[in-house]
Amino acid sequence: MLNKNTYHQILSQLSPAGVTLVAVSKLQPVEKIMALYEMGQRDFGENYVQELVDKQSRLPADIRWHFIGHLQSNKVRMIAPFVHLIHGVDSPNLLKEINKQGQKTQRVIEVLLQVHIADEETKFGLDENQLNEIFNGSAAPASHVHIAGLMGMASFSDDLEKVRSEFKKLKSLFDQYSTAQLANTQFQILSMGMSGDYKIAIEEGATMVRIGSLLFGARK
Ligand SMILES: *Cc1c(COP(=O)(O)O)cnc(C)c1O
Repeated sequence: MLNKNTYHQILSQLSPAGVTLVAVSKLQPVEKIMALYEMGQRDFGENYVQELVDKQSRLPADIRWHFIGHLQSNKVRMIAPFVHLIHGVDSPNLLKEINKQGQKTQRVIEVLLQVHIADEETKFGLDENQLNEIFNGSAAPASHVHIAGLMGMASFSDDLEKVRSEFKKLKSLFDQYSTAQLANTQFQILSMGMSGDYKIAIEEGATMVRIGSLLFGARK
């Protein structure tokens, strides 16, 4: 069930801090997305390419679609024509492919670099060295991709101080690279925080949070 009170409550927590809410609608039916849309929500996040393409074709054109999952290079072309922001860029090769598809569709595609901040091995993301390579090496961004900031996921843990310290680390990397003088790079977005930890993320400087289950209820 869509939790309308929770939606307003979350917005009232985000607005004073100027934080953008991405409503994570993966595995949720279009009816629930429409219900939230009718309350004014426009930013929605999806994890799976085929599901996103399908929903995009069925839902209003002014929805800003965020791709927040792990993106395979061979699927970039499917979302390149319409995607608003790709959160999970975790390799120079993927960045290259996004640039190529941006060229084909005559768009400049907005992306965030995903940084590995959790200590779990299963989560995707660049480590600090790879991040450095992107900014200092041959993998510098090209004309049809715009790096707008960083994204990260904290450890799935009850230890809130651990979660906080991981967000702190991402924020400090964000501050460090936000001064980088690179063509097609301008840091404005720090995407961190989900249903269980978004309040901590806001305290630690998030400008965008990605909330799913708290809004829509458990996923199927
Ligand atoms: C699923 C997902 C979310 C939302 O998770 P909830 O715990 O349901 O809020 C946020 N970010 C990413 C990258 C996700 O895959």
